[in-house]
Amino acid sequence: MKDVVAGIDIGGTNTVFGLVDKSGNIISENSLKTTDYPEIQNFVSALVTAINKLMEGDAALKLIGIGIGAPNANYHKGTIELAPNLAWKGIVPLAEYIRKKIDVPVTLTNDANAAAMGEMIFGGAKKMKDFIVLTLGTGLGSGIVINGEVVYGHTGFAGELGHTTVVPGGRDCGCGRQGCLETYASASGLVRTVLQMLSDMREESPLRDIPPSALTARKISEAAAQNDPVALEAMDYTAEILAFGIANSIVFSSPEAIFLFGGLAQAGEMLFGPVRKYVDENVQPIFKGTVKILPSGVPESNAAVLGAAALAWNGLIR
Ligand SMILES: [Zn+2]
Repeated sequence: MKDVVAGIDIGGTNTVFGLVDKSGNIISENSLKTTDYPEIQNFVSALVTAINKLMEGDAALKLIGIGIGAPNANYHKGTIELAPNLAWKGIVPLAEYIRKKIDVPVTLTNDANAAAMGEMIFGGAKKMKDFIVLTLGTGLGSGIVINGEVVYGHTGFAGELGHTTVVPGGRDCGCGRQGCLETYASASGLVRTVLQMLSDMREESPLRDIPPSALTARKISEAAAQNDPVALEAMDYTAEILAFGIANSIVFSSPEAIFLFGGLAQAGEMLFGPVRKYVDENVQPIFKGTVKILPSGVPESNAAVLGAAALAWNGLIR
């Protein structure tokens, strides 16, 4: 028999899941549409059926755990709580519901903490005890690892660097506050910056020909690669604000590395170069040169399933 865990990533639109062995090989995977199941019990049934189906594909496999990454997931309680992007309202005891149908340990956390687990078990942080993963997508998620443990905090929701204030009274944030890091340093934050700069700057730019609703971080980094002045300025500003957030988190937990992950991190050196420069300029001198700023070591296409699987393995191997 070969031990495997199921890694499950629940998103607002899709839920992806796979069977993963101890070395991080995805043996099989599948997905279902989260939006097809507005009733949580129907979702749990469909998910469990689909996982059992994957297991039936190979009689030599033994399922020994389940890890789940989901929005607003509470690690301590195994619940999803008041998730704005999911149809299930209130507090959903998802781990308990799944355990009733499959009798193995079920662990839940949010997707950024799962990404940090993935980095630690299967990625670039294998030998590290102190590091931070920042996921730069539509928002900015963070998983903070201190002394080999993901920080969950008193509530189970710790590590929300995306909602630290970097510009008092700044941009409106989805959390109801203003000036949060994620309103600047994320794929959508970069788009907001470009739209503002297009109106403030007079330079010619191919970005002026793109309708605002069609503007994406990818198109902006492509323009920056062609030396477009507006895109370059926006990238630099984004890097500067991200570096503020990083410099503060370095003072707080002295990580060995910060891993940047997600849509905006795809900009590569155009982002990493200025981020390293601004971190060096802004961090408290005692920490200068102590932190590596690195791309994620987990392949983006498999990261969600591997992160959730790492969460399950981490609970099983200790
Ligand atoms: Zn916020």
